[in-house]
Amino acid sequence: MTVQVEVPAFPHFINGKWEQASSLEMFDVFNPATGELAAKVAKGTPADVDRAVKAARDAFDNGDWKSMKPKDRANVLYAISNQIAANAEELAYLEAISSGGTVRRIGSSDILQMVDLFQTLAKFTLDYPFSETLPVPPFPGPAHNFIWREPIGVCAAITPWNLPMVIATWKIAPALAMGNTIVIKPASYTPLSTLKLAEIISAVVPPGVINVVAGPGAEVGEALVTHPEVDKVAFTGSTEVGRRIMGLAAGTIKNTTLELGGKSPNIILEDADLSIALPGSLFGVFLHSGQLCESGTRLFVPDKLYDQVVEGLVALAGKLQLGNPLDPATDVGPVISRKQKETILSYIEAGKQEGATLVFGGKEVKVPGCEEGHFIEPTIFTNVTNDMKIAQEEIFGPVLSVIRYSDLDEAIKMANDTIYGLAGGVWTRDVNKAYEVARKLQAGVVWINDWHMLRSDAPFGGYKQSGIGREMGQHSLDAYTQVKHVHTSMSPELERRNWYGILFGHNK
Ligand code: NAD
Repeated sequence: MTVQVEVPAFPHFINGKWEQASSLEMFDVFNPATGELAAKVAKGTPADVDRAVKAARDAFDNGDWKSMKPKDRANVLYAISNQIAANAEELAYLEAISSGGTVRRIGSSDILQMVDLFQTLAKFTLDYPFSETLPVPPFPGPAHNFIWREPIGVCAAITPWNLPMVIATWKIAPALAMGNTIVIKPASYTPLSTLKLAEIISAVVPPGVINVVAGPGAEVGEALVTHPEVDKVAFTGSTEVGRRIMGLAAGTIKNTTLELGGKSPNIILEDADLSIALPGSLFGVFLHSGQLCESGTRLFVPDKLYDQVVEGLVALAGKLQLGNPLDPATDVGPVISRKQKETILSYIEAGKQEGATLVFGGKEVKVPGCEEGHFIEPTIFTNVTNDMKIAQEEIFGPVLSVIRYSDLDEAIKMANDTIYGLAGGVWTRDVNKAYEVARKLQAGVVWINDWHMLRSDAPFGGYKQSGIGREMGQHSLDAYTQVKHVHTSMSPELERRNWYGILFGHNK
C-alpha cells in the first residue's frame, strides 16, 4: 500500500488574504536535500502582479498606514518581531525544506536576526528625523525651513533563494517602518517562508500593506519592475539580473536598491592566530554550502604560511559533516538544485583545467537517506592565481580558492582586482595593520578576525558591481523615504522679499 502524503499548497498572498493565481496554475517546489516535492505554489502572472500592486497602492494612498505616528508604527514592528518568534519553528522548517539551509543555522541565527532586525528598526523609528527644522537664515530672507522625510509609496521586493526569509525581512522591515507598502516576489525555489511571513505579518498590519506574488522572474519580476504604480524596487540577486533590473527600472525612473553578487577576498597576515583564522576562513566560505553572497571565496595566504595553512584547512574541512538540513547534526547541507550543482561542478572542472591544484573535495556526494539530494563536497583549490575563472567569477557553491602572496600590497591589489566589492576580511594580531587593510579594501563590509558578522544596526551593501544602496541600520530607513524641503516665508511685506527686487526692480 502506498501512503499518500498531502503536499501543502500556497496561493498568492494579496490584500490580507490567500488568493489563487489568475491562471489557476501552480508550480512545484522541491526539497534540495531529498529531491521530494515540498509544496505547490501559485504561479503568478502580470495580472496577479497588477492585483497585488493595486492592493498595495490602495493601502498606501487611501489607508491611514502611511500617516501613523512613529510610536504606533514602532509598536507594529515589535508586534511583528513577536509574531516571528511565535512562528519560529514553522518558518525554520519551511526555510530548511526549500533552501536547504540547516535547521541549526536557521534556528540559532536567521530567526534571531529577523527578530532583532524588527526590534532594532522599531527603536530607530522612534528616533528617526521625520521632520528637521533648519536655522532661520539672513539670506535669501528670513524663513522657517523644514526637511520632511516621507514614505516612497509602493515598494517591490525581489529576493533570491539562498537566504529567502532573512533577505525578505531586510526589505520588509525598513519599508514598513517608514510607512510604505510592499509587494514581494520570492525566488521560485524558495517562496514558502516568505508566503508564511506575509501571513503572520498581516495579522498586525492593514490589508494590502504586505503582499506576495510568486512566479518566474522574467514574467512576475519584470511585471513588478516595470509597473507604473510601483515607486521603488529593492532587488537582491545576481549582478547579471541586477543589471537588467536597473535598465528596466529606468523606464519609469524608479528608486532602486541593488544587492548583488560577490567574490570576497579574505587575507591572512603573517602574524594571524591560525587557531581562529583557519576555522574562521572555512566558516567564511562553507556556511550554507558557499551559497552566501558575502562568502570569503578567495583566501590570500603569505608565502611563509602557505603550506601550514593549506594543511590546516584540509584537516578541518575533513571534519565537516554533510547531511539532511533537518538533522541538527548536519554541518553542511545541499546546494539548491541539480542545475546549481552542475554549474558548481563545471567551475571545479574549469579550476582543474586552468592548472589549480585540487587538494580537497571536488565531487558530488550521495548522502545516505538523501540519495536524490544535491550535495557537493566542500572543495579547496590551491595554486590559484587571481586571474583564473574560479577566482574571478561568482561560483555560489562550496569552493575555496587559495592564492599565494609575497607582500601585503600585492595581496591588497589582487583582493581589489575584481568587479565585485561586497565584503572582505583580514586575520591579524596587529590592530594597526588590520585597519590599514580595512581602509584599502574596496568592500561594503570588512571583518577583522571574523566573518559573516552582519548586524541589524549596521549597513550592508556593495561597492562596485556588488550593488547600489545599503540595507539594515539607519541607512535602510533612508532608502525607504524621500526627502521634502518645506519653506515658509517670514517676511510680511512685499518689498522685503529678495525676489521682488530681482524680478520687479525697475518698478521700485
Ligand atoms: P537571480 O539573480 O537569479 O534571481 C534573484 C531574483 O530575481 C529571483 O527572485 C528571480 O526569480 C528574480 N529574477 C530573475 N530574472 C529576473 C528578471 N529578468 N526581472 C526581475 N526579476 C528577475 O539570483 P539567485 O540565483 O536567486 O541568487 C543568487 C545570487 O544572489 C548570487 O549572485 C548572490 O551573490 C546574490 N545575493 C546577493 C546578496 C546581497 O545582499 N548582495 C544576498 C544574497 C544573494
